[in-house]
This record gives sequence, structure tokens and C-alpha cells, in this order.
Amino acid sequence: MTGNLINGDWRKARLFGPIVGLTLGVLALLILTTAILVHRFDDTASAREQHMFERGFAQQLEELDKVVATQVDWDDAIVMMDHRRDAAWIDFNVGNYLHTFNGFTRSFVVDGDEKVFYASANGERAGLDLYAPFRPIAAQLLPRIRQAEKARPPLVLRPGKDNIVIPPIQGNTVTRIGDQTYIVIATLVQPDFGKALPKGARAPVTITALPIDARLLGIFAQRYQLDDLKLTAPDAKSNGRGNLVLRDLSGRPVASLVWTPRRPSAILSEQLLLPLLLMLGLLGLVAWTMVRRSGIVISDLIASEARAKHLAFHDPLTRLPNRAMLFERLHSLLATVGSDTSRLTVLCVDLDRFKEINDTLGHHAGDLVIEATANRLRTACAGAALIARLGGDEFVVLCSSGCSESAEMLAHRVLEALSRPIQSEYGRLEIGCSIGAVIIDRPGVEPTEALRWADLALYHSKQNGRGRLTFFEPRMDQALQGRRSLETDLRHALANDELFMVYQPQVDLAGNIHAAEALLRWSHPERGEVPPDVFVPLAEETGLILALGEFVMRRVFADTGSWTRLRVAINVSAEQMRSPGFAAAVARLAAEAEIDPSRYEIELTETALLSDEPVTAGNIGALKRLGFTFALDDFGTGYSSLSVLQRFSVDKIKIDRSFVSCLGDGGESEALVDAMVRLAKALHLRVIAEGVESEAQRERLASCGCNEFQGFLTGRPMGLREIVELAHESPGAAEAEIRKSA
Ligand code: C2E
Ligand code: MG
Ligand code: MG
Repeated sequence: MTGNLINGDWRKARLFGPIVGLTLGVLALLILTTAILVHRFDDTASAREQHMFERGFAQQLEELDKVVATQVDWDDAIVMMDHRRDAAWIDFNVGNYLHTFNGFTRSFVVDGDEKVFYASANGERAGLDLYAPFRPIAAQLLPRIRQAEKARPPLVLRPGKDNIVIPPIQGNTVTRIGDQTYIVIATLVQPDFGKALPKGARAPVTITALPIDARLLGIFAQRYQLDDLKLTAPDAKSNGRGNLVLRDLSGRPVASLVWTPRRPSAILSEQLLLPLLLMLGLLGLVAWTMVRRSGIVISDLIASEARAKHLAFHDPLTRLPNRAMLFERLHSLLATVGSDTSRLTVLCVDLDRFKEINDTLGHHAGDLVIEATANRLRTACAGAALIARLGGDEFVVLCSSGCSESAEMLAHRVLEALSRPIQSEYGRLEIGCSIGAVIIDRPGVEPTEALRWADLALYHSKQNGRGRLTFFEPRMDQALQGRRSLETDLRHALANDELFMVYQPQVDLAGNIHAAEALLRWSHPERGEVPPDVFVPLAEETGLILALGEFVMRRVFADTGSWTRLRVAINVSAEQMRSPGFAAAVARLAAEAEIDPSRYEIELTETALLSDEPVTAGNIGALKRLGFTFALDDFGTGYSSLSVLQRFSVDKIKIDRSFVSCLGDGGESEALVDAMVRLAKALHLRVIAEGVESEAQRERLASCGCNEFQGFLTGRPMGLREIVELAHESPGAAEAEIRKSA
């Protein structure tokens, strides 16, 4: 049970796994895709921001260049800064002006020899030594200015012309002086309209410096909407922040502008958080519903599979394991014999009187018996490895502990349990059982072999009077082989004329022969005379009885068809009566032989009548309509009831010879025979006694009211010629043939 549960859970997990996995996978994929998209989105946004800021910064420098160029590129500037070196003018137009309106904190003017002649700090004239820290950066810028100045087309005076013709010559860079970073712009002083010209080949150059300070950063930040814009050392780690490295003319990093980049994903997340959560929740709900639904479906599937499996491996009536499971279990138990299991006991249990109960009381009574048997087996074989129902009234018990004593004890417990009568709505039902057992103590035995051995032992229990236990012995197998060879011989005998009929007289009170019972004989070339008690049951078991029965009918009709005085009794087996088309076959044979059916009596045993099968009833009815009469053979030994006698309206009962042989022993036989005769008379049936061997028996039978006799006293079974002569009968066609050939 636990195993099944674990198995069920495992199966469930196996079926569930992919569904849960798929659902989680889809969710994970969704989250991952969103994360990647958002990340890409952020990356793209940062790259754009970086690009914009870089361009913006360059633009800013260009603008600053223009601001300075406006102040120093005009004719007045040539006059005031080159010709006159008017410091007050320079103060007003450069130092002070650029400081006040554009935030430049340092302004210098150098002459054609690059010597500084003007300096201003924060809009106020200052000492020339202020230039010293700027000299190195000026030294980088000035050669480029001078080069461009040299390359410039020669300047000419253009009095009266009012259009600017000279483009500015400038250079800018970034430098760090002390703890301050500056944008430094060098601008060549040039005329604009050309009304004044520089006095020498090289004009003065202004060096102006704008600190990158909080004010400037504020302007940048506002213009480009940058958060937290700061100036840091160039080697500072950016840690995912926006970063613009500022370099001097030689490409050396001077400082970095860093800022917190815009993360659109953060805004997106903020905005989308609620819908996203809702969506995830919804998806989760769908997944959960799916998993739950699948769970229910899977549970149902597993349950129905388990049900189907149980049905496939169990008998629905008793809920005991069936043949399929028995074979499976037997296979695995036999595989362990010799290792885990030292021995395995196999018991074949078969009910003794089940068929009678089933036939007389009906299938419901039969079911009750089978159920009760199963319950008793469960109690009696509590420790058994398996109790199975093979079908019908056959059960198998497997016991793996198995020493022979315990097997014997177990079998006797079963015998005892099943011999107790079953109390039911049908009254007390006595069933009893026979058991065949085999102990397997060596490896390599096949399940079919083990069962066959137990079954053989069971067969012996049945043969030896039922209600007993028989252990399998190898000689039984030999006996079986013997039976097999007998069966082959019997088939051969049928085809080779080894079978013939003898006839035993039936006489009346006066001793006159009025009938004869046809009895089959087999004269085997090697075995000698084989008694019908041996080969008839064998033929019944193997199905050969149908061919044998047809042979008997054909031969008896041929032998006795021409008789005019004697009636003829023919034995017919239950198996023949159960065969559909039997009556038709008899009718055909009777027509062929042109016999009068009313002179023939069919002897049936009680078991043939007990099978309440429609086929039997149909055959009997049809034969009766043809004119055949019926006698109940071996009366008193079976299980027949009054109702059976009446239902089939037999014409005669034949008291079994076991009662006759006991007459005179002072036992109950006389009373029993008396009762049987009375019963027959009451039902207006004729009555005959068989096995009458002595005069005393005949007299006692007569005194009981029986007036027909058959037995060694009045005539042994004899050949056709003898009976014909004894009864003064006309010989049959076969006899005539024999006589002719003789
Ligand atoms: P049954 O029909 O009861 O036949 C009577 C048996 O009792 C015969 O044995 C017969 O020889 C024997 N018998 C007759 N008088 C006496 C007597 O005074 N004392 C003793 N001890 N025995 C006596 P048989 O011929 O060996 O037949 C045995 C059984 O075989 C028959 O019993 C019958 O059931 C079956 N049988 C015989 N011939 C046929 C047949 O043609 N068809 C079928 N289906 N069964 C047959
Ligand atoms: Mg008979
Ligand atoms: Mg008999």
C-alpha cells in the first residue's frame, strides 16, 4: 500500500514536474526578457546621454570661443591692445567684461614675443606674475595660434569697407592649476573690418581662463538635464555613472565630469510596477490554476490506472489476486528460491462439491460459496505470500517460509476451514476441498511447471476420494505421461477397430430377458483388456468422448437395429449431453440405421442431469421427442434431488450396485433401497437394480418392490452373438456380417 502511494506520488511528480517546470520557465523567461529589455533600454539611454553631453560640452567651448573672439577681434582691439597697450581699455573690454558677463576669472595678454603685458584676476587688474602657472598651457596653445597667424592671408587696410573678412584664430584646452580646473582659450587679436592693422608680424594674443566651478556645472547640468554633475579627478572610478574625461592638448586626462545617468528603466519600473505586479499575479494565478487542474486530472488518471491495474490483477468477486498476478508473483518468488527463500510451497485448492451447488442452487449460491471460501482462506493462510483465485472453484496459496511440516499444517488448516459447512440463505452448504501441494526447493523451476505439479497432486487427491491433501511426487508425472500415452492409444483404437460392444441382460421377476445394456470394451494389442472405468473418464477429460460416443451409437444401432424383442440401454456421458447438436447427431445416426428410438434407453448419470444447462435440457427434450427413454444410472451416489427427477422426467432409475452389494449386511442399505423404490413408484418411474450377484440380493430387492434386475447373477456382459442366441433375437446387420464371414 505504502509502495503504491510512493509510486503514485512519484508518478504524480513525474507528470507534474514538466507542467510546474513549464509554468515557472515561462514566468522566468518573462522576467528575464523584461530585465534584458530594461537593461538594454538603460544602456541605450546612457549612450545617448553621454553622446549628447560630449557634443554639448564641445559646443559650450565653441560658444566661449566666440564670446572671447567678439571682444578681441575688432579694429579697436588692434589699436588699443597692440598699438597702444591701453590697460584701462583691456580692463574694460576683456578682463572685467569677460569676468562680469561670462565668469572668466583670469585674463592675460601676451605680445608678439609671447611676453605677458597684461593680467587680470576676477575682473581686476593684477600683477603679471599671476601668469606664471598658465605659462605651460599657454606654451601648448600659442604655437598653434602663431602657425595659423602665419598661414593667414596677408592683412590689408580697407578703410571705408564695413564687412568682416577675417575669421578668428583661436585655440582652447583644459588645464588644472592648483585645485582648480580651467577652460583656457587663446585668441589672436585681429582687426575685423581692416581699418587698423597689427603693427608687427605677430599680434598680441589673449589667454583667458574660465574655471569649471559650481556655477558652470550648474549651467551644464541645467542645460543637459544631468543629475549630480561633478568634477572629479580623471582616475576616479565612475561606478556606472556618466563620465566625460577632459584632456589637454597633449591628450593627457586633466579631470572628469561625472554625473548620474538617467535610468529610464527606473522611471519605467516606477510607472509599470503596479501593472507588472498585477500581470505577474495574474500569470501566477493562471499557472496555479493550471497546475491544480492538471493535478486533479493527473490524480484521476493515476487513480483510474490503479483501478484498471487492480481489476486486471484481481478477481472481482473475491478481490483476491487472479491468475495474471499469481504468475507474476510466482515468477519472482521462484527466482528467490535457493537464495532469500529456501523453499516455496504451492497449494492448489479445489472445492469438491462446488459444481453440484452451482448447478442445483444457481450461480448466486455458487458466488456465496466462492466468497465464503475466499474469506476462510484469508484467515487460514494469514501468513501466506499470496492467495489467488485461478477461476471457477480453484484457488492457489503460495507460502514462502516453507518446510514440509508447515506446508502440511497450512494445508490441513485449509482442509479443516473449508470442510466446515457454510450457513447461507440456501441452508447448510457442505463443500469441502481437495488439495494438491508441491514444495519447490531448487532454483530454475518455471511457474507453469510448479503449478502443473501442484495440479497433478490435486488430481490425485480428487482421484483418491476427495477431501484430502496430496504432495506431488515425481511418479505422478510418470502417471500423467502414462495417461497421455493411453490417450494416444485410445485415439488409435477408435480408428483401428480395437473397440467393440458387449451386452448385459436385464431381466424381470420371472427371469425373462427383456433388455440389454450395451457396454463398451477395448481390447488393446499390448495392454490387453482396458476397463471402461479407466478409458471412459480419460475420454471425458480429453474431449474424445464425443467421437467415442458416436462410435458406440453407430455400433449399437448396427448391432441391435433388427432386434424385435429386446430393448437396449446405451450409456451416455454428461459431456455428450452438454454438447450442442448431440441430439441432432443421434437423430441422424438413428435415421441412417433405420432404428426405432422407442426401443432404446439412454442411461445418464446424475451429474449429467445436474448441470442445469439449457443445452443439456434441449438435448434431452429433443431425444425424448424422437422416442428415446431415459434412465438415471448409478442412482443414489450423486447429489440429485426430487426436483431434478421431475424436471427432466426420466423414465427409470437404476439403483447403484454399491447399495445392492451391501444388502444383507444389516446396514442401512435395505432401508435406502426401499426408500428409492418407493420414491420411484411415487413418481411412476420404473426401477432396476444393477450389480445383482446373488439370489439373496435379488429376493431382497424383489421384496422391496424392485422388479427388474441386472447383474452377474442373471448374465454377465457378453458378445453380440451370445446375447442374440440367449434372447432368441434376430441378429443385427453387424452380427449377420460376422456370421457370413464365419
Ligand atoms: P455402468 O453403466 O453402471 O455399467 C455397469 C457396470 O457394472 C459394467 O461395468 C458392468 O460390467 C458392471 N456389472 C454388471 N453386473 C455386475 C455385477 O453383478 N457385479 C459387479 N461387480 N459389476 C457388475 P463396465 O462394463 O466395466 O462399465 C463401467 C462403466 O463404464 C459403466 O458403468 C459406464 O458408466 C461406463 N461405460 C461402459 N460403457 C460405456 C459406453 O458405451 N459409454 C459410456 N459413456 N460409458 C460407458
Ligand atoms: Mg450403465
Ligand atoms: Mg451403473
